[in-house]
Amino acid sequence: MAVVNTVSSSARTMWPASRAGAVLTVNLSAIAENYRYLVSRLGKTACAAVVKADAYGLGVAQVAPVLENVGAKHFFVAHVDEGLALRPYLSPHTSITVLHGPRPEAAEVCVRNNLRPVLNSLEQIAVLRNLAAKIGKPLDVAIQLDTGMSRFGLSEADIDTLAASPELLTGLSVSLVMSHLACADTPENPANTMQRERFEAYAHVLPKAALSLSASSGIFLGPQFHFDLVRPGAALYGVAPQNEGDNPLKPVVGLQAHILQIRHLSKGDRVGYGLTWQASGPCRVATIATGYADGFARAGAAAGCAWYKGYRLPILGRISMDSMTVDLSAVPEGLLEEDSMVELLNESYGVAAVAKAEGTIGYEVLTSLGRRYHRVYTAAA
Ligand SMILES: *Cc1c(COP(=O)(O)O)cnc(C)c1O
Repeated sequence: MAVVNTVSSSARTMWPASRAGAVLTVNLSAIAENYRYLVSRLGKTACAAVVKADAYGLGVAQVAPVLENVGAKHFFVAHVDEGLALRPYLSPHTSITVLHGPRPEAAEVCVRNNLRPVLNSLEQIAVLRNLAAKIGKPLDVAIQLDTGMSRFGLSEADIDTLAASPELLTGLSVSLVMSHLACADTPENPANTMQRERFEAYAHVLPKAALSLSASSGIFLGPQFHFDLVRPGAALYGVAPQNEGDNPLKPVVGLQAHILQIRHLSKGDRVGYGLTWQASGPCRVATIATGYADGFARAGAAAGCAWYKGYRLPILGRISMDSMTVDLSAVPEGLLEEDSMVELLNESYGVAAVAKAEGTIGYEVLTSLGRRYHRVYTAAA
């Protein structure tokens, strides 16, 4: 396409953030620190890094090498394509595991690219067994057990079948047996112990392999939940691992949006689609360059806000696709100009706060962060 040639050289050399609506800052040192913090809670257990969904929206190309440098030797993604995209950023000796396992047509691509599939059914096991026979060498695989979540993994009946017919695993070298906790963010939930006990009982009848049960939250349930390998994702990116109590992890993302326009409204003036907000007196409002297409859900309009030098700027009316309007009443006159930027995420108002305003969880806020921000990665220390 010739379009690129029509971009003037000045457009290419100017500060790129000027051309974007907002600047997303990803603090790679904080990710490294969060990894080290998790390791410090683990004793002998190895700590993997889950980087599915483009490292939870933060950029797997930048994030994965940082985690490898700080000691991660096992990475997890959801799909074969994600594994293929990740492979060039890691050493060939670093393992990449594909959580969903391959579809039959993708199994060979998966193993030939040094990606370990998680086998979630007897059918997937059969596909890989046949592939091992075809290729003529043992294939490294992980097996997932369903211990109560009814989402992925072998059922109790499947596990009995495998235990009774070990030849079903011919040609497969099972290096990991794993399961996943449904309620690990609520430590008092009895489902946690129930799942752990099932996991131990099921794993006992399968070939001996490294065991892995916990993701971020499970790490905080204590050593009985650690086994050989833990698989944190969200905690690396600063999301609180438990519903209650302080978050011990460092915030990782910041977001600053350009102000597009400042307007002075009179009593009775209205704002945004549907004219849902009405000024009760004279006020100043700013339209800022971030909208729902950038990951700020319309559902967050009523409770959400931006920040400027510590002043809270409530969102007014509806969030548009590319913009939202905020109330500047709290900011002293003269402190703010049209080329100022306001903060939508900062150290004290992070993904958890935005999630609360939107009625969702930090995971969804992170993975929804838009693709059109100018991204700045601060170096890992
Ligand atoms: C996403 C995922 C993880 C990581 O979960 P976090 O809660 O983000 O730490 C671990 N294991 C499996 C199977 C997953 O799907």
